[in-house]
Amino acid sequence: MSLVPVSELLKHAEAGGYAVGAFNCNNMEIVQAIVAAAEAENAPVIMQASQGAIKYAGIDYIVALARLAAERTTIPVALHLDHGTSFEQVIQCVRAGFSSVMIDGSKLPLEDNIALTRRVLDVARAVGVSVEAELGKIGGTEDDISVSDRDALFTDPEEAARFVRETGVDALAVAIGTAHGQYKGKPELDFARLAKIRSLVKIPIVLHGSSGVPDEDVRKAIGLGVCKVNIDTNIREAFVAAARQVLADNPKEIDPRKMLGPAREAAIGLIREKIRVFGSSHKA
Ligand SMILES: [Zn+2]
Repeated sequence: MSLVPVSELLKHAEAGGYAVGAFNCNNMEIVQAIVAAAEAENAPVIMQASQGAIKYAGIDYIVALARLAAERTTIPVALHLDHGTSFEQVIQCVRAGFSSVMIDGSKLPLEDNIALTRRVLDVARAVGVSVEAELGKIGGTEDDISVSDRDALFTDPEEAARFVRETGVDALAVAIGTAHGQYKGKPELDFARLAKIRSLVKIPIVLHGSSGVPDEDVRKAIGLGVCKVNIDTNIREAFVAAARQVLADNPKEIDPRKMLGPAREAAIGLIREKIRVFGSSHKA
């Protein structure tokens, strides 16, 4: 199949009460792992490229890998830009073949975030590419967020309602207590806020920084309207742990395939587990 827009996958997820996994890819092995795991689970899947991935592999390489992987399977696969930084970058990705983009204007004042998102939507809509935006500030795990900070940083439900009304965006990433990277302690998600947002916003909600969030919390968030769950850190951990084990067992190994093969297998196992938690097995 050719790459499909994320919005198409999320429409079914929203109706079916499950979430589609959005897994970050940086190289051939992880692209293969994402599609192999989705095939094994018969699940729709989103591959996404972060700013780091674009810097590392290049937009064209990522598109070529994702396209080939999608063409070789009957599972619906989307290729999504994660945290697009500018109008220009989003257009580069659309032109290169991404089927979905995120424009992250969350650091801008609300009015400017709305204007930027609308500008992206005008172009993306014309070519059938779906758009995710972000409201509120999703921190890094190194950010120590105090209770008083939470109100300032987390997504305001009323603002979310206005943002969606004025932009018509396809999906909205919210800040409710998750963070990017490895958590130090257990993340405390603000489920009341998520429920409030969901009552005012009738489009799929996206959960970023979901690696390290306990499975039961992820399921609860899905029950409250989260339809896309982003996983990056957990894949890195599984991939690198397997590679590290190979090198620890065979310090003289010089064949990269002996290291990357088991790493790919470990990523497949991890992604399959996540797909089951998200409830998207057998939904392809
Ligand atoms: Zn993110």
